[in-house]
Amino acid sequence: MEITKEIISNLLDGRLADSDVEQLQRMHEKDADRFWKYLEVLQERVQWNDKILLRLTDHLYIVRNGNGARVVKCDCGHEFGDYRVNWKIASRVRVRRTAEEFKEVYTPDQAIPEPGWMTIREYFCPGCAAQLAVEVVPPGYPPIFDLLPDLDRLYRELGRPLEDESEDWFRDRTMDVVANFRR
Ligand SMILES: [Zn+2]
Repeated sequence: MEITKEIISNLLDGRLADSDVEQLQRMHEKDADRFWKYLEVLQERVQWNDKILLRLTDHLYIVRNGNGARVVKCDCGHEFGDYRVNWKIASRVRVRRTAEEFKEVYTPDQAIPEPGWMTIREYFCPGCAAQLAVEVVPPGYPPIFDLLPDLDRLYRELGRPLEDESEDWFRDRTMDVVANFRR
């Protein structure tokens, strides 16, 4: 089975038959260029030209922008900034705190978290208002940094090292930004 861009495209859209998905998963020798084809398909689907380095969620990508920076970007074009900083702190947030607010998104009632002990945070893109993530956490818990990938290592292991490799990339810089928030 040759993995074409069309197959990858259908996979992304959830239009691939279950039997084909199973076959993809069971291939002993994964085709070496699958990741590159996947990136090409993603790149063809967005409206901007910044090079996609990795997809983070349905809407978010790590890209290299025109300034050579690695940033998180929404498919709508909105940029969240340096990918080493949790993008959630640059998003719009809705926090549900009461049982009434929980009921709007939870069923059955028995599954509703205990108000006061838990909050539901919904993160939205400031550019297009798409919902980007949801987390259920105790009040005051820091936004969860879902993914800080070691891009240099990933690309090196795939045989195409990035031209701007640096020791400094693989470092969580969220607190550097938070420290500068005005109170
Ligand atoms: Zn957006």
